[in-house]
Amino acid sequence: MVNELLEKPALKKPSAILDSLLSLHVEKIPVEGYEQVMKITDKRSGLTSIIAIHNTSLGPALGGIRIYPYATFNDALEDVLRLSRGMTFKSAIAEAGFGGGKSVIIADPKTQKTPELLLAFGAAVDRLGGNYICAEDAGCSVDDVKVIRRATKYVVGLPNANSSGDPSVYTAWGIYRGIQSAAKKLFGSDALEGRSVAIQGLGNVGSRLAELLFWAGAELTVSDIDLARTERIAQKFGAKAVSADQILKTECDILAPCAMGGIINDQTVPHFRCKAIAGGANNQLLRDAHASALQARGILYAPDFVINAGGLLNVTSELDEEGYNPLTPRYKAHRIYDTLLAIYEIADKNRESTHSAALALAEYRIRYGIGKRVIPPSFHHVAE
Ligand code: NAD
Repeated sequence: MVNELLEKPALKKPSAILDSLLSLHVEKIPVEGYEQVMKITDKRSGLTSIIAIHNTSLGPALGGIRIYPYATFNDALEDVLRLSRGMTFKSAIAEAGFGGGKSVIIADPKTQKTPELLLAFGAAVDRLGGNYICAEDAGCSVDDVKVIRRATKYVVGLPNANSSGDPSVYTAWGIYRGIQSAAKKLFGSDALEGRSVAIQGLGNVGSRLAELLFWAGAELTVSDIDLARTERIAQKFGAKAVSADQILKTECDILAPCAMGGIINDQTVPHFRCKAIAGGANNQLLRDAHASALQARGILYAPDFVINAGGLLNVTSELDEEGYNPLTPRYKAHRIYDTLLAIYEIADKNRESTHSAALALAEYRIRYGIGKRVIPPSFHHVAE
């Protein structure tokens, strides 16, 4: 029957059919400061997942699905809590009209990701009735989201005409605009010609950012743990390639972390030789206090949840009543530049870190409902 679901996308109530086939078990995990945190298991498909809905004051929670073989359940819980909270702030600052949510599936995406597992997860999302809308994330491809779509319409970022597709090009453009804002703040001009930029991580986001910076005339240093990829991008854009353990210590105007979180920490802060950090990775600060450590060293920091909102703006645009129009997220991602300049100014005035200025701004918007969604999201895509 699950196979039938995979073959017949047009089923009207797939989740109802699935429910009768699955042994979904939902256990609520009370977490202070979070609206809903649920552990979802399904014995038949082997699913173990957590959905965290942090805050829906401004709209339904929206955030990606991370599929990762976490060593322990608590590691997974910690990750999903941090990520869902970050989504609340990202959405609030971007005025996307959504709240913050995220999900994790505890599985090895290379060996344990089956259609049954994805469908069971989709059925769990469907039961939330649109309170949580999901998308791709690390370990979960757009094709996986297509499978999940067969069990629930509460997804975004599908590769079809009624959806918004791969968000990373918009993420990269927002980061590019953020790098321009850092240059403006540091040098009084946002021209990037001759400015040195070091990029850590050359995946979907980092490689696209490298291309944009190349055309702007920046001098690039690049690194990825995938050496073949590093070589390829370095050759393509005339960049200097350095090893993964050197990139964070590279002398440059702007360091753009586009790989993993937690890279601003006690070990790395003393060794940075950049004037600003402006990149796309989520959760770059290991702890909030590391923002003050950067400030003390005179390094300008573009808060990650502000600079990397381009992808979120793109996927949320497909839920507009009139349907997806690429001009809307392009315009909004463009404005990340202005938002960051305002945040640098607020931070200067209040003598606080840019991270705490951005957090305060997000919390203010959430408290007073600024940017709250008035029209419910419209789902235009169809299951394939
Ligand atoms: P990706 O998986 O396509 O690329 C990540 C790259 O980083 C890979 O090539 C990987 O080999 C490399 N990498 C991992 N560890 C590294 C290290 N220590 N040094 C150098 N390279 C390393 O992911 P992505 O979609 O490009 O996303 C990159 C970051 O941006 C992630 O933190 C993600 O959460 C964040 N982000 C992405 C989007 C988006 O639209 N894709 C949106 C917002 C935030």
